[in-house]
Amino acid sequence: MPEFILLEQKKAKTAIEILENKYKNVSYYLNFNGPMQLLVAAILSAQTKDTVVNDLTPELFKKYKTVEDFANADPQDLLNYVKKVSFAENKVKNIISCCKIINENYKGKIPNDMNSLLSLPGVGRKTANTILINAFGIVEGIPVDTWVIKLSYRIGLSKSKKPDEIENDLKEITDKKYWKNFAYVIKEHGHQICQSVKPKCEICPINNICPKNGVK
Ligand code: SF4
Repeated sequence: MPEFILLEQKKAKTAIEILENKYKNVSYYLNFNGPMQLLVAAILSAQTKDTVVNDLTPELFKKYKTVEDFANADPQDLLNYVKKVSFAENKVKNIISCCKIINENYKGKIPNDMNSLLSLPGVGRKTANTILINAFGIVEGIPVDTWVIKLSYRIGLSKSKKPDEIENDLKEITDKKYWKNFAYVIKEHGHQICQSVKPKCEICPINNICPKNGVK
């Protein structure tokens, strides 16, 4: 295992700026219409490909239109719509419980603050940040998904493997104007160039900064 090298702050900022500019047209990847649909799609997307979620949500949202519909859903019926996602049974339980709580405590409206979102079953900081940013335009953190965890470590932006610590490290070095899209930029870089097995370092726009340039 190659040694970990933390980038000095100036270089980290430059690397982030270069990546943000290269992938400036990326945006959030799950299809949704309104906060409730985003909450449901985001819960379904954990450890599941976006394309799988985007394929099933049109039919799902045709049947289940409101928070109340989900709160009163028959678990087996809901499961039939979402069975292609991983951990489908657990996610069904969480979606129904979330929607019951939202119905009872928030008058059927998805809350738009971090603490309330974190109190919902199946909602961690990644999902809460995603909902705040994409459904409400509130940017108070950076969603940390598996690509962010992997590439932040590889590029030397954070030495932690824990999402909360990574988020704090990234917030220190990333201009706030980039927080909104940071996770999607990193994911795109992972797909196009910094792939898990054979990163294409020779064409990478930050290869003169990244400590893992050419490291096998
Ligand atoms: S230089 Fe290589 S390891 Fe570093 S970010 Fe670019 S592709 Fe990834």
